[in-house]
Amino acid sequence: MQEKGSISIHTENIFPIIKKFLYSDNEIFLRELVSNAVDAVQKVKRLSSLGQYQGEIGAPLVEVAFDKEARTITISDNGIGMTADEIKKYINQIAFSGAEEFVEKFKDAKDANELIGKFGLGFYSAFMVADQVEIQTLSYQDGAAPARWICDGSTEFEISEGKRSTRGTDIILHVNADSDEFLDEHKLQTILDKYCRFLSVPIKFGTKKEYDYEEATAEGEESADKKPKEVEVDNIINDTTPIWTKAPADLTDEDYLKFYRELYPMSEEPLFWIHLNVDYPFTLTGVLYFPKVKNDFEFQRNKIKLFSRQVFITDEVKDIVPDFLMLLHGVIDSPDIPLNVSRSFLQADGNVKKINSHISKKVADKLAELFKADRKSYESKWADIGLFVKYGMISEDKFYDRAKDFVLLSNTKSEHFTFSKYQEKTELLQKDKSGNLVYLYTNDPAKQDSFIQSANRKGYDVLLMNSPIDTHFIHTLERKLEKISMKRVDADVVEKLIEKEEKIESILNEEQTNNVKTIFEQAINKPNMTVKVEALGPDELPVTVTMDEFMRRMKDMSALGGGMSFYGSIPDSYNVSVNSNHKLVSKILAAGGDDQGRLAKQAFDLAMLSQGMLTGADLTEFVNRSVSLI
Ligand code: ADP
Repeated sequence: MQEKGSISIHTENIFPIIKKFLYSDNEIFLRELVSNAVDAVQKVKRLSSLGQYQGEIGAPLVEVAFDKEARTITISDNGIGMTADEIKKYINQIAFSGAEEFVEKFKDAKDANELIGKFGLGFYSAFMVADQVEIQTLSYQDGAAPARWICDGSTEFEISEGKRSTRGTDIILHVNADSDEFLDEHKLQTILDKYCRFLSVPIKFGTKKEYDYEEATAEGEESADKKPKEVEVDNIINDTTPIWTKAPADLTDEDYLKFYRELYPMSEEPLFWIHLNVDYPFTLTGVLYFPKVKNDFEFQRNKIKLFSRQVFITDEVKDIVPDFLMLLHGVIDSPDIPLNVSRSFLQADGNVKKINSHISKKVADKLAELFKADRKSYESKWADIGLFVKYGMISEDKFYDRAKDFVLLSNTKSEHFTFSKYQEKTELLQKDKSGNLVYLYTNDPAKQDSFIQSANRKGYDVLLMNSPIDTHFIHTLERKLEKISMKRVDADVVEKLIEKEEKIESILNEEQTNNVKTIFEQAINKPNMTVKVEALGPDELPVTVTMDEFMRRMKDMSALGGGMSFYGSIPDSYNVSVNSNHKLVSKILAAGGDDQGRLAKQAFDLAMLSQGMLTGADLTEFVNRSVSLI
């Protein structure tokens, strides 16, 4: 029996086109062929369990072998095999009709990615690395004859009687001259590790496998009984039941940690994990780990692996996983995510959207559970967890609503509060005269220490907001929390941070006040320093340098690339607040001549010094002046 035929497709040769587009990713041929082999093996099991196949199933196995001299890579399975008719039906018609459509669309497509995505590459991705592909197969069906198919990537194929004597299929790739790199043990091992590490059927990788098929010509019926020669194979390379395929109840913490170490051998232990298991309305399994991240964000992204029925697909899970969870590690497995599709398509996909919000909800549930179950341990991990929670609250309203009961605010004394507890704590003292609550924060407790101390003396609490994400988090809080505003502790002198009804009387009269203002203005003599004489408590500092909250935020925004670069170009401007009730100020007024200016300058420099703002020539001058004053 021998038959030659032509694949009905209106183009000369489609493979150069496929090759051109997929060249950079041509290693996926192995993923496609091994997945087909795995499917074929699983079909035998299914047929057998349905009673449609009475023969021996045998130990399910897929083998990958290569032969450098013969220039072949062979993927073998003991699956269902194909009859000659099935080859015609599944390989010729289905595969190539897909290809035809591919070519049709290609004619006026602008974006290659758009195209590739719409067509499963399947079997014919083999032609990316082979100039000839051969199938030797024997169907499971009673009395089936072995079949052989060979095709050189043109539209011509040939079907004849095959040589397999046992059920299953060999796909033999005659590797083309451009693809030598794949005739290499290390290279193949690497590809298999990447894509096939968790496939559900054992995969053997052989360093060498010799077939007689090489000699078999199209007319070579005389060797019909030949079998593959002795096979030299290494061990099974895959874990057929990775943890995400198991029930959480059957797993211990150690199982999860072990799997984590396998995937990320260089990482610290994760904080905790979430086992995903959804059947409806989409299928999704997976394990997501919360790593210790601290602040090196970018470095840590793209650590989630996407699988489809245990076949590795990609590390790119953008859109599938909410952006704020891109720092998580782990695996997601879903047959419902369209593979190989372009970004815009993925974003619009209904399942992808559902999966995205499901993951977000699961993470919130897990955090709520941890918060409830063990508050102490939750707090101790807050430095790491907080990053996710804040990021999530900033970027997703839904997550904000879920997280508002377990998000923590931390103060400079390392105490943690929930939203409601913090409101209770500050309500008494931190309401301003119009009834708004003012939350004070510091982004640099060392630099702003004198302000923090002043605030604490008044009984005010100061929140610690010193991570890069806090700038954004503060905005979110203000937007969401009603009648609450946020002020950095150095935004003003303590009396004015939270404006109260009662005013402190100044011990200076109007003329004296103006005098003090002039003395300081002349002594400081800087255009970006605005002097104000204010009546503060006698125990407060004599001079305080502050930057207005609004002004500072504008500058922060532009530094973060908030698109307001206009503000970045204006110089820093500060308020110099002179405390008219401080003894030193009275002393300066009473002093005569040059001393007035010298003391005012000294008091100003001390204020600058305490905030780490005194540098360069100003600092040198201050030191010299201090020495002479002593
Ligand atoms: P897909 O796998 O998406 O259906 P392919 O082009 O990869 O597309 O394969 C086409 C068909 O050829 C498969 O659906 C299957 O019926 C058949 N086939 C491919 N490889 C094998 C194999 N190793 N054993 C049995 N049948 C196979």
